Amino acid sequence: MFISTMTHFLDPEGNIAKEMHKDGREHASFLALIVDAATKDYPPPKKSTDIRCLTKKCTGTIDIAIDTKEEEIRWRCIKCDEGGKISGWQGTKWDNRK
Ligand SMILES: [Zn+2]
Repeated sequence: MFISTMTHFLDPEGNIAKEMHKDGREHASFLALIVDAATKDYPPPKKSTDIRCLTKKCTGTIDIAIDTKEEEIRWRCIKCDEGGKISGWQGTKWDNRK
C-alpha cells in the first residue's frame, strides 16, 4: 500500500523533481498518470485505465476511484492487488478539473 503526496515529488515549478533517484522519478511519473486519468472526468465513479502496474513483472493495469470527501485518489492493480492513495494532487499540472 502506497500513501503518496503528489506535491512531495515536485520542484517549485510544479514539475517532477529532477534530483530524485530513478525509483522516485518512476513512482512520480506513475502518480502523475493516475492523477491525469482520474481528473479527466471528475469525479469518476470507478474507472479502469491502461496504466501499467508499478510492481516489477506485474502485467496488471490500474483501476481508479476518488474519495470526494477526503479528495484522495485511490488506485489498485487488477492483478496483484497492489494499491495506494494519493493526496496533494489538487492544482498540480495533472489536475484536469475545470
Ligand atoms: Zn500489479
